[in-house]
Amino acid sequence: MYDKFQKHLQKELADIEAAGLYKNERIIESPQGAEILVKGKKCLNFCANNYLGLADNPELIKAAKDAMDARGFGMASVRFICGCQDLHKQLEKKIADFFGTEDTILYAACFDANGGVFEPLLTEEDAIISDSLNHASIIDGVRLCKAQRFRYANADMADLEAKLQEAQKCRFRLIATDGVFSMDGNVCPLDKIYELAKKYDAMVMVDESHSAGVVGKTGRGVTERYNLRGQIEILTGTLGKAFGGGVGGFTTGKKEIIDMLRQRSRPYLFSNSLAPGLVGAGIRMFDMMTETNALQDKLHENTDYFLRRMKEENFDCLPSESAICAVMIYDAAKSQKYAAKMQEEGIFVTGFYYPVVPKGQARIRVQISAAHEREHLDKCIEAFKKVRKEIEG
Ligand SMILES: *Cc1c(COP(=O)(O)O)cnc(C)c1O
Repeated sequence: MYDKFQKHLQKELADIEAAGLYKNERIIESPQGAEILVKGKKCLNFCANNYLGLADNPELIKAAKDAMDARGFGMASVRFICGCQDLHKQLEKKIADFFGTEDTILYAACFDANGGVFEPLLTEEDAIISDSLNHASIIDGVRLCKAQRFRYANADMADLEAKLQEAQKCRFRLIATDGVFSMDGNVCPLDKIYELAKKYDAMVMVDESHSAGVVGKTGRGVTERYNLRGQIEILTGTLGKAFGGGVGGFTTGKKEIIDMLRQRSRPYLFSNSLAPGLVGAGIRMFDMMTETNALQDKLHENTDYFLRRMKEENFDCLPSESAICAVMIYDAAKSQKYAAKMQEEGIFVTGFYYPVVPKGQARIRVQISAAHEREHLDKCIEAFKKVRKEIEG
């Protein structure tokens, strides 16, 4: 029975490879950090979502160990049967305090938070108005929900307004957007989205995965950046990026919304509870965020420095208010050459081209971290200059 299917898969895989889209894993032999070990060779890492450099933080490792000693390794249950410890409630409270929201519900990942947020809340009578560049997990979550779907061009407020007008016939309207769009590094215009939401009687959902811990002076995300703390109905986020880089997701926002998710959200009801080690480290991480702003300050300094220096060297960088810097190369093949040569120089960056970004918009995405020292940033900039010379002559 498998023979035919095997041939089918072999052909599809060959097609993926021929199109240059085959994904290979690069094996890291060290903890995640600014400097990593690959095939015994030290490299500088500029493509992790490790924005605050916490992925190998000794305090978080200790907090995870302590929590495992005190509360065990695993929960072996979903939350509502017997999978909820005091630690889970503490972490949910810390997240709500951090974002200035009313309540929080934890998930195994933000992919699950987004997969389980729309379907329990909205029906065919309602509308979801979604940014065209939203993350795959928002797209999948919207697909699982019966609400009518509207899509607006990325951060295009005229288009959003037109779609809100179309959706006036629906009972409830929910605008869904990423906080930071991961390909360009742009922050969603939440001030304008919020105004339109008020004008057209809509609610707002923001996925803070790339913005939480990063955007805003104290890293409280886009609601801090736009002075809208506590004003947005639904925020989702991950513990897998700036917040330590482990795993875990959450939805935080209005009390009744979170309560309904605890009753009806399928990834919460039918998937295992977060393990105590992850929860204990999460609690310590949010305490660190309130004790000091040093990591945010360093990240913002690093990002400003990198963008300024790259512009001085005449690289074409998209404007960014996040830790993502898109260095525009435009030509797809050339972007792959840049990424490969950067790796030869010991710098890990990712090249993106169509279909991940629009045709003719190929780029190298550089992700800055608070773990980077000035000399790391300088090495990366020097490598860019050297590679440009080799490629452009
Ligand atoms: C990374 C990411 C996710 C998924 O987060 P996980 O916790 O790794 O599942 C969801 N949404 C956005 C916008 C992301 O960038």
